[in-house]
Amino acid sequence: MEFESLFPVPALIAGLCLGSFYNVCIHRYLTGQSIVLPGSHCPGCGHVLSWWENIPLLSYIMLRGRCRSCRQGISTVYPLVESISGILALLLALKFGPGLEWLIYMLFFGMLITASFIDFKIFILPDIITLPGAGLALAASFILPIFWLDAFMGALLGAGLFWSLQWAYRIIKKIEGLGTGDIKLMLMLGALVGWQGLPIQIFFAALLGLAASLIYMKRKPGSGMQTPIPFGPFLALGAVIYIFAGEAIWAWYLGGHSF
Ligand SMILES: [Zn+2]
Repeated sequence: MEFESLFPVPALIAGLCLGSFYNVCIHRYLTGQSIVLPGSHCPGCGHVLSWWENIPLLSYIMLRGRCRSCRQGISTVYPLVESISGILALLLALKFGPGLEWLIYMLFFGMLITASFIDFKIFILPDIITLPGAGLALAASFILPIFWLDAFMGALLGAGLFWSLQWAYRIIKKIEGLGTGDIKLMLMLGALVGWQGLPIQIFFAALLGLAASLIYMKRKPGSGMQTPIPFGPFLALGAVIYIFAGEAIWAWYLGGHSF
């Protein structure tokens, strides 16, 4: 067997392990702890995790979702982040194979997973992720199969669009609508998908964000249209969909409308 055909296996394992690391980043951003210290521990009782309690996904299943020491439930966010990270790493491996592209997209997807779960929790897209992310995405356009000018145009158009939306929203409603975090995130995502990718990315973000809002409102009656749902995770999801399927979607769309 060649390494190339086996690559999805180590890619999946790397994705799961990185998911554990993203969990640490998310948790410690929310609690203000350092990323390096202290070692992984139960947030309930402080029980320090041994190596076998720290295996991505498997430990959660073995421990049946409870801390070994205090039996407190472990948040389902942990296995969820690990699963998403693992699946995305696997899909990237299947699409790009081993190489620099896989590595670069892994870096950006890691930033997007971490920022998305922080946004879900506290409605903040950390500048410490989105701003370096935007710079790196512009730099990566010189390596990735995207023309650098398309990436720069994508960043400017994407962020510009959300900046104008926010400006219009403020004038009409006289309140803050979209956060400035979404504008900074769009700098990064626009650079990743290029200006040609923006229609598909924003379409899927709006569609999935709307669907999620409707499901949320149905489950929590009385929350109404004022219920804030963070938009950042959906913008990120739209970009991920475009990176995997953008060309196929464009081909299908143009093919179906060519007569
Ligand atoms: Zn505990």
